[in-house]
Amino acid sequence: MAVRVFHRVRGLREALAPARAMGRPIGLVPTMGALHRGHGSLISCSAEDQRPERGLTVVSIFVNPIQFDDRSDLDAYPQTPDSDLRLCGEAGADFVFAPSAREMYPDGFSTFVDAEGECLTKMCGAARPGHFRGVLTVVSKLFHIAQPTRAYFGEKDAQQLFAIKKMARDLDMDIQVIGRPTVREADGLALSSRNSRLSARERAAARCLVRALGEGRAIIEGNQEASADSAKKSMAAAIEAEALARLDYAEILDADTFGDVTRDTRKALLAVAAYFGETRLIDNMSADVCFREGSDGSR
Ligand code: AMP
Repeated sequence: MAVRVFHRVRGLREALAPARAMGRPIGLVPTMGALHRGHGSLISCSAEDQRPERGLTVVSIFVNPIQFDDRSDLDAYPQTPDSDLRLCGEAGADFVFAPSAREMYPDGFSTFVDAEGECLTKMCGAARPGHFRGVLTVVSKLFHIAQPTRAYFGEKDAQQLFAIKKMARDLDMDIQVIGRPTVREADGLALSSRNSRLSARERAAARCLVRALGEGRAIIEGNQEASADSAKKSMAAAIEAEALARLDYAEILDADTFGDVTRDTRKALLAVAAYFGETRLIDNMSADVCFREGSDGSR
């Protein structure tokens, strides 16, 4: 069946009401469009999860202006509406919600959702002031509009996924927030809508991100006398060695708390961000942490 497209909050709500009244689940996949196979994997996962109970999958496509701290980044954000609709249909979406900025933020809009704490003020929170406030505000609006049973997000944006899970918990939102693995190109580069903005040379250079993460992971999982610090330095060096890359951050943290790696850390999250020309790319990987018996445990 063809995907139905809604531009207004009211239209989407009315279309979802019968399914909700029958107790059918709703899966929501929030995106900013310029869809690729990474988005497709979230959509087909939702379609599969809702199918046994004859539920619905809603994909939102909205380039959220309030999560951009940089106007030129917003203006340059790629838009591919025709192929987006095709991909949504092929991946099993039922509804697409594509509101205007005015529909989401009408005149007089002044209520925002924000989170405190170091877990969101570092990394992308530090590099992009106000970014997570914009993300949490739009995602809570989408949660209220679609009232999904489940919502699907990519692990590629690990800090965002952490923030959304935390928001749902902190604010008692009765929504299952599901994280899905990063989909990559054959050479390891994480798919991103922003990849289309890279020149051929920048595209080749961008492989340094996954290379850096692999080197960091080898150090952490190698269980040598290595500290998170030395793995961090190695990741930074791998990116700085690439002439076309400008390092933003190379971090290692506890994947469960988003705090520092400690003796209790079992899984670490390695995260990097760098600019290639005007385009900022992020990526991450997790690594198992196992302390060697008798080591001093300094990390
Ligand atoms: P975006 O359109 O970039 O805001 O992303 C929408 C959703 O797709 C977010 O939950 C992202 O984490 C997720 N996503 C983006 N890139 C990928 C990828 N390469 N693999 C899996 N999920 C992704």
